[in-house]
Amino acid sequence: MTWDLSQLVTNTDPSSIQESLESMVTEAERIKKNYHGKIGSLDADSLLELLKLRDKFVLKFEGAQRYSQLIYSADSTKDVPKQLNEAYRRASMKATKALAFVEIELCMLLTEKPSLAKSSVLSEYRHYLERLLLKAPHMLSETEEQLSIIKDKNGINAWEILQSDWLSTRTFPLTVKGKKRILPYGEIIGFYHSPDRDLRRRANQSVYEGLGKDDIVWASAIRAVCDDHLQMCDLRKWPTPMTPSLMVNDVDQQTIDGLMRTIQKNVNLYRRYLRIKAKLMGLRKLANYDIVAPLPTTTETRYTWAEARKEVQEAYEEFDPQVGKWIKEMYDKRHIDGEIRKGKTAGAFCAPWLAGKSAYILQSFNGRINDAYTQAHELGHSVHDYLASRTQNPTNCDYGACIAETGSIFGELLLTEKLLKKAKTKEEKKAILATVLDEFGMSVFQVSARVFFEQSLYTAIKQGQFLDGKTVAKLWVKARSSIYGDAVEWLDVMKWEWTMKLHYYIANFRFYNYPYVFAQLFVFALYKLYKEQGKEFVPKLKALLAAGGSKSPRELAAQLGFDITREAFWMKGMEQAEEFIKMLEQIM
Ligand SMILES: [Zn+2]
Repeated sequence: MTWDLSQLVTNTDPSSIQESLESMVTEAERIKKNYHGKIGSLDADSLLELLKLRDKFVLKFEGAQRYSQLIYSADSTKDVPKQLNEAYRRASMKATKALAFVEIELCMLLTEKPSLAKSSVLSEYRHYLERLLLKAPHMLSETEEQLSIIKDKNGINAWEILQSDWLSTRTFPLTVKGKKRILPYGEIIGFYHSPDRDLRRRANQSVYEGLGKDDIVWASAIRAVCDDHLQMCDLRKWPTPMTPSLMVNDVDQQTIDGLMRTIQKNVNLYRRYLRIKAKLMGLRKLANYDIVAPLPTTTETRYTWAEARKEVQEAYEEFDPQVGKWIKEMYDKRHIDGEIRKGKTAGAFCAPWLAGKSAYILQSFNGRINDAYTQAHELGHSVHDYLASRTQNPTNCDYGACIAETGSIFGELLLTEKLLKKAKTKEEKKAILATVLDEFGMSVFQVSARVFFEQSLYTAIKQGQFLDGKTVAKLWVKARSSIYGDAVEWLDVMKWEWTMKLHYYIANFRFYNYPYVFAQLFVFALYKLYKEQGKEFVPKLKALLAAGGSKSPRELAAQLGFDITREAFWMKGMEQAEEFIKMLEQIM
């Protein structure tokens, strides 16, 4: 249950790893010395040489960096991991800074000679160059870019830090088992999932009542962040507030508009599920604190590490033998750390190891069904890494948020299929289907409310409205109602929900949310295709994952014969969700 990180490096002696990190900085500086100021005069052949050199550089030092990073996430209390992590952070910052000129000069070169992006010599890097070409017209001069960094430091970055510090230092009263307690935010939210309904209600009431009292602080922060963004849109000539995020995620407005229209047209599907869930919970109507609550009738199935491994591995093996072999390798070669330990990073992640054509996974395995799902999810990420690292250069292994969750969510659905087949009782089946549909509902519909809300903030500012706390709360309630209608009863204080969502305050990162909607519905659509086409579909999905970031999501879907700018594609995902809902209705 613990991982073996020694495979990442030739020598695990800390001083040897530190040396490797130091030579990474030296080598980055050497590249800078050789190429800085010269990229503008490169022809296709020498440009190819530079891009290959940079990729080689990435692979050469990936092991030492990963090792330092992962050993720290596995135990942040010990001295060696602390030192290595610090050395890694310092070195990677220096190397990134040294190599930052490459993209800036590349953008300038491509503006001068856009035909380079189409050069057959550079075909391996075509999509990367095309994306830089799109970015180029929105770049400012070097001095302006520097000024912008300085202004952000005490401007929007400071507002972001204030929001997060303010939230993490609030405390909230809650009576638990007759004892009055004062809890920090991180702890009280644990009660949102309590099987005790009244406790869930009181936890929500306490948090949002408390947060609402500081609406002046939250509203000031949101105003500053949004207004700054609009100013930058003007300066950088971004046509809409969403443009920079579309560029980062490698998608276009037409695709996202089609996606969001599909959501609006299908809110009744979600509401249908919410009404079923109310029945399952023995309620007339769900309250906001019931939406993702566990079903009261569930007798929880527990899994040992070996049992979870068996289900997950078999789910992948049944999909495809090669994929199954890789999953087995992840366990056999000890690339997964599942042990619960003090000092270990919370949550779960999968870190690619491109040079080893593999990956490493961290989770804290508690034996619950959710832990089995987390394992299937993270292993899906590793499948993506196995496929992409075998086919693509490191530049193309950097895939945007819309595509990054394809392997992982697909893996969850494979596990669902397996668990549903095995389930002996109706209760077990209900619990599995509710887990899947809860997640689908949250990622697709609840998250969409956040997208609509964020859009409405910019519209309101453009119309000259002053965004005080009350106005922002009204916009949030309106966006929320467009999704939930009258299917859920909300505590009045839930109008302050926007105050704690970090996403609305992240500096230089607007519209954080829609890739989650995209990813979930995209994978449900793919899974529906798999169910329709059977084994014929398997190589298609593998090709999509193997393409990594060498193509845009739109091109990747076109490869499967689908046009993601059309609502018909997204409807496939809704149809799959409806099938799960019907399965649930049949066993009610
Ligand atoms: Zn993920």
